Amino acid sequence: MAKTIGLLGGMSWESTESYYRALNEGVKAKLGGLHSAKVLLHSFDFADIEAQQLAADWSASADMLGSAAAGLEAAGADFIMICTNTMHKVADEVEERIGIPLLHIADATAEVIKSRNFKRVALLGSDYTMVQDFYKGRLLDKHGIETIVPDEADRKVVHDIIFEELCRGVVSDESRTAYVRIIESLNAQGAEAVILGCTEIALLVGSAHTDVPLIDTTQTHAEAAVRMALGG
Ligand code: GLU
Repeated sequence: MAKTIGLLGGMSWESTESYYRALNEGVKAKLGGLHSAKVLLHSFDFADIEAQQLAADWSASADMLGSAAAGLEAAGADFIMICTNTMHKVADEVEERIGIPLLHIADATAEVIKSRNFKRVALLGSDYTMVQDFYKGRLLDKHGIETIVPDEADRKVVHDIIFEELCRGVVSDESRTAYVRIIESLNAQGAEAVILGCTEIALLVGSAHTDVPLIDTTQTHAEAAVRMALGG
């Protein structure tokens, strides 16, 4: 019997929509017929989350996400996914609030990197994800994966496009060109692949736009969830 997936979403809803599609397509691909994913969604107002990020009030976020995760557990979720890389900053605190597993996005990403035998990868995401240790540190300490990130000027380009455009549903050719330039420069610096470590980036750029291997964390996280839900 398939498990029920509890999603902490709305961060932003543009990418939660991608998760919902990927989960349902994944279950359909495995089970066929009219099968679809069993999902419970708690969708936040992203303006509240962004305000907490700007104020570095991570304990308020931990509280909000933790109580929402507990609510999903009480409603029948068998495991929890936080549908954003950035908010994995509070993954440990969320995990403490629940008695069911949390499927960590960096672990799902690391499994794909290892299976494709990449040794050195680059990481794109929000500035929090690219600079702080909660994501890169987990890749290194738990999985032995080293990451490089863009320089400060390019990190600002990457971050601003996420918050000013992608999380608002704006997808532009100009921003795609900027991302492709940054991806190719990271590749020239030795990254064999680039982690799209923000769940909206795949809305902008994909394998049609560059030959550099890309690891889409939304897709990777959703595929891991489908395996977990179907027990395989
Ligand atoms: N969805 C993005 C991520 O994966 C950014 C939005 C957020 O700050 O949660 O990091």
